Amino acid sequence: MTTAKTVIIEEFGGPEKLKIVDREVGEPGPGQIRIRHKAIGLNFIEVYQRTGLYPLDLPASMGMEASGIVEAVGEGVTHLKVGDRAAYTSMPPGAYCEARVMPAAQVCPLPEAISFEEGAAMMLKGLTTHYLFRRTTPIEKGDWVLFHAAAGGVGLIACQWARAEGINLIGTAGSDEKCALARENGAVETINYRTEDFAKRVREITGGRGVKVVMDGVGKDTFEGSLDSLEEFGMMISFGNASGAVPPFNIGLLGPKGSLKITRPTLYTHIGNHERCQQMAKELFEMVTSGKVKMHIEQTFPLEQVADAHRALEGRKTTGSTVITL
Ligand code: NDP
Repeated sequence: MTTAKTVIIEEFGGPEKLKIVDREVGEPGPGQIRIRHKAIGLNFIEVYQRTGLYPLDLPASMGMEASGIVEAVGEGVTHLKVGDRAAYTSMPPGAYCEARVMPAAQVCPLPEAISFEEGAAMMLKGLTTHYLFRRTTPIEKGDWVLFHAAAGGVGLIACQWARAEGINLIGTAGSDEKCALARENGAVETINYRTEDFAKRVREITGGRGVKVVMDGVGKDTFEGSLDSLEEFGMMISFGNASGAVPPFNIGLLGPKGSLKITRPTLYTHIGNHERCQQMAKELFEMVTSGKVKMHIEQTFPLEQVADAHRALEGRKTTGSTVITL
């Protein structure tokens, strides 16, 4: 029996609630593995879990994404073996730790060409980009898409993904520097939504028509403007709430705004099936090993400073991906 440093919360609240404890790590049961982490990914969902917006049963282990080496394999696990390099995003949380026992189904063999840091930076954010572009609504070459927080973790992957597939991505971001970064990564146009009316600018850019799809992870502050940026029959994908949860709204508004569609997806439905998760990961790895998508790890924090990592992410101080090092 070994012990591993593990980050938990005992109550919901600010970053100061993140607490490091030593936890015993046992042997994997049927369908499980034990993995020793090399790097851990930071994601906005962990802010929602920490504050209680997405409630967890307390006390709760934290963290949704990591990479490492498989140390032990339970009965019935056939896609991984001891010594394999691997990366994952999966439920239940618990990735902020040195080692853990966890369900194997969503753990994916990591190609040699992808580093542990890149693996930890890309599973949650990259698989999200995959389902947004390939599994949610038809999007073809030449289509216009509006993507909010385009210089963020999911954002910089989305910019590159769109460029690789010939999709015209308009990115919003909270500073001119962030807008420039989104353009460098493939956004064809950017809008600083702190200084400009983004819905008005989207109409100008698209010759009055609007975009076919909005991908909105910002939530409360952008929701209405997002609906006003869509073309007739357009699709609103509301997939996050960095500025706060979208309040209840009148579905009747979708008619006069142009017979709009709206969906509120979560990655964990898309990767809930083992075979589908492994296939999506293979397609994501292909995007990265082919050079079409590059991981931008712009910030790293040691595990002991995980609270500072949360402060930076919530404070809009980060760009691209953030990795917790061990
Ligand atoms: P980001 O790195 O994109 O960080 C969030 C960004 O949101 C900030 O950098 C900031 O960019 C922008 N933002 C706008 N308003 C605020 C605000 N009031 N407070 C804080 N940030 C704000 O995070 P992730 O890449 O981890 O995630 C992006 C979004 O996607 C999140 O909402 C996340 O929950 C969601 N998500 C949803 C998934 C799903 O399946 N439903 C899966 C993965 C992610 P700027 O300064 O440019 O405005």
